[in-house]
Amino acid sequence: MVEEEHTQEFILEKECELRFEVESKGQKVELELKSGLAEVFGTELVKQKKYKFSNGSKVAVFTWHGCTLQLTGRTEVAYIAKETPMSIYSNCHQALEELRKKADEDDLPGPVVMIVGPRDVGKTTLCKILLNYAARMHRRPTYVDLDVTRAQICMPGCIGAIRVERQLNPAEGFHVQSPLTYHFGKLSPNDNIDHYNIAVTELAKHSKLADNKKTKFSGTIINTPAWVKGESEKLILHAIKSFKVDAVLVLDQERLYNELVKIKPESLKAILIPKSGGVVAKSQLQRDEIREIFIKEYFYGGRIPLYPHSFEVKWSDVNIFKIGAPLLPSSCMPVGMKVEDNSTKIVNITPSLSILHHVLCVTFAQSAETIFETNLAGFVVVTNVDVDRQCLTLLSPQPGPLMHNHLILSDLQFMDTH
Ligand code: ATP
Ligand code: MN
Repeated sequence: MVEEEHTQEFILEKECELRFEVESKGQKVELELKSGLAEVFGTELVKQKKYKFSNGSKVAVFTWHGCTLQLTGRTEVAYIAKETPMSIYSNCHQALEELRKKADEDDLPGPVVMIVGPRDVGKTTLCKILLNYAARMHRRPTYVDLDVTRAQICMPGCIGAIRVERQLNPAEGFHVQSPLTYHFGKLSPNDNIDHYNIAVTELAKHSKLADNKKTKFSGTIINTPAWVKGESEKLILHAIKSFKVDAVLVLDQERLYNELVKIKPESLKAILIPKSGGVVAKSQLQRDEIREIFIKEYFYGGRIPLYPHSFEVKWSDVNIFKIGAPLLPSSCMPVGMKVEDNSTKIVNITPSLSILHHVLCVTFAQSAETIFETNLAGFVVVTNVDVDRQCLTLLSPQPGPLMHNHLILSDLQFMDTH
């Protein structure tokens, strides 16, 4: 039986938003702006254009002046909310604009703002809104994502930066051609804080190199992993210093805000802002799924399919590294060596079955010594380990042989079921 197409119309008054979710597998929902003006997380909608949202999407369509919207397809939830923090978010944007204008006049770097907060409070969404508003003013801000747990602009386990010059496609999120990416290889910064901080330092150093004046005065917006009390303070402070952050926006939690005020450098502005009542929490399963989809799309494409390559490389033709040697209790360490010295040690490994299905980061580095300071060229997955013939089979977006033969092992795994 063919299900009838389900169409709903919504009339929104000014400063309201329509929130909807597409939950069920395989469902698609089409959004169309019929009249008025509306935006999705800061991106202006084009009238009469159909925006397709697939399962997993949780969307808010906000209007400053009122609009009529149409949804086609099955939504799990769809309701209009009158209370939103959008005017506060818009004020943040206005303040950044003032700083950009000033920076432009004085030929100085634009504002650097960092967004922090606990899990599921809309940190990433606020970044999108601020970036889209900036793009609408013809700015070219740098977006830095320090969240290794999620995949937004680069592979999970990595941190990266992009320049944003156009509004994001509301149904697709970040358009990422070539982010500047640094390896970390683990899914939580706390798994190796010393290494994480090194990666943050390097990303800060390199993402600052503005390629033109517009990039320079447009400033930087930094997304961070969810704040965990007692664990995140050191990381946040390190990132604040590395990126020379001017202001931190703390989403939702007064407790975190107070914590930050206690530890922050005096010159740093900290602003507590409310979260939206529309933000939807993600389960661990959904988080895993998002990661899985990102990796799959890296190789096989999304809306536009890609055709990855599979080829063999000889063990002797590649150098595989891993960051961090097993931690020894300090009593076992040689005199004068600290435990940290081990956690950021670059170890050359011999392939074995233990790296099967693992993601390997392909680095531009020409030697082990330059691994930390060098960004990544791309990623491959180990789909077979032949111990007898001493060969690896790799899944790669590019045909073989590998352009760069220094690879770094990631904790991340991907089962290629194609
Ligand atoms: P994490 O801690 O995982 O990094 P986060 O704090 O970055 O989460 P987001 O990813 O920005 O939170 O938001 C969580 C989800 O809520 C997203 O799917 C987002 O699309 C949705 N969302 C955000 N704001 C709204 C809103 N106003 N109405 C409906 N959905 C929303
Ligand atoms: Mn996030």
